[in-house]
Amino acid sequence: MSYYSYLECSKCGKKYSKDEPHNLCECGGPLLVRYDFDEIKKNVDKNIFKTRKKGLFRFKELLPIDDENNIVTLGEGDTPITEARTLGRRIGFENLYIKDEGLNPTGTFKARGAAVGVSKAKELGIKTIAMPTAGNAGGAWSAYSAKAGIKLVVAMPQDAPELAKKEAYIYGAKTYLVKGLISDAGKIISRGVKKHGWFDAATLKEPYRIEGKKTMGIEIAEYFDWEFPDAILYPTGGGVGIIGIWKAFNELRQLGWIKDKIPKLISVQAEGCNPIVKAFNKKKDVSEFCSGANTIAGGIRVPKALGDFIVLDAIKKSGGTAVQVKDSEILDSINLIARTEGLFICPEGAALVAAVEKLRKSNFLKSNEKIVLLNTGSGLKYPNLVSEKLPVIEIDNDI
Ligand SMILES: *Cc1c(COP(=O)(O)O)cnc(C)c1O
Ligand SMILES: [Zn+2]
Repeated sequence: MSYYSYLECSKCGKKYSKDEPHNLCECGGPLLVRYDFDEIKKNVDKNIFKTRKKGLFRFKELLPIDDENNIVTLGEGDTPITEARTLGRRIGFENLYIKDEGLNPTGTFKARGAAVGVSKAKELGIKTIAMPTAGNAGGAWSAYSAKAGIKLVVAMPQDAPELAKKEAYIYGAKTYLVKGLISDAGKIISRGVKKHGWFDAATLKEPYRIEGKKTMGIEIAEYFDWEFPDAILYPTGGGVGIIGIWKAFNELRQLGWIKDKIPKLISVQAEGCNPIVKAFNKKKDVSEFCSGANTIAGGIRVPKALGDFIVLDAIKKSGGTAVQVKDSEILDSINLIARTEGLFICPEGAALVAAVEKLRKSNFLKSNEKIVLLNTGSGLKYPNLVSEKLPVIEIDNDI
């Protein structure tokens, strides 16, 4: 059963009923799901989760789905956390961990948001969902919508990864390619939503995907036996991943399940699209639109995030920071982690390797701190980033 009680505006605190579809608050603020913590404390033992079937819906008491019959699942969540000893030694850490979201259905952590978002849409009786995407969210939401029998309309930049286009197509989403960025795709979707009455599932205009992504935080806490690591690095685009983890950690503390200080949350971006890094360095509460946003890490090519103020607040309150890396460093890191840890990770995740190395050098992170790199997706989704030059050999020649 769920202990979901209402939606609350992250800006002005206004409350909304949970029983009909909502997007943003009338003040423009994103809505957050709130639970009845007193009841959870009374009725739920945190050790129960481990005894259940794998997957993120084993945390159902902390998720917003009322009737389990509405759950749409493809086996998402419970991704492995591995110790990266060789990589750690190489760049100066004794306790470096990688949580690999590349093993989710559709190859990225976007599956978590889609599983909970589409399940809730089904519960609310929504018939058509529409969303802009940089690529991976479109793939995930297309798959879960197909499974749920809900229509999906997506708009993505024309230069989104080829695979993202093919995914949306193969799962049967009505897919449009936009001559512009994800922000332009967002404008087109907004107009379509007004005209056709679709449900707008753009990042943070839809309150439930945060809940799906939040489960990454719960899994990390559970993995460390209900303690927190010292720092978590996250590649930040729309910011839902980092907001989700922040929300999870605050909820676990509110429930009294963990007493530790919340880990330093570290937002990583690419030099070519760094609105959060810029705002953090200037001590601003909100970011500015990053024009000409450009990076090979498409998932973090978001020039301005609706939830930027929550991301910046989370970084600041947790004692974290924001770091930018070059695309060339991202490419080098994809290679390094593949060869040291046997993980072929996405460029967004690889950015963390370059970033954590910088933070060691600047001594922001100490060598004995327990650090988790949250790899958001599989490198298999970006085959074009590997330009191998392999020797061709004649059949008669020896090697
Ligand atoms: C979407 C995406 C991100 C950024 O996640 P946000 O929650 O939007 O900040 C990072 N990496 C990959 C692979 C993505 O698809
Ligand atoms: Zn509000």
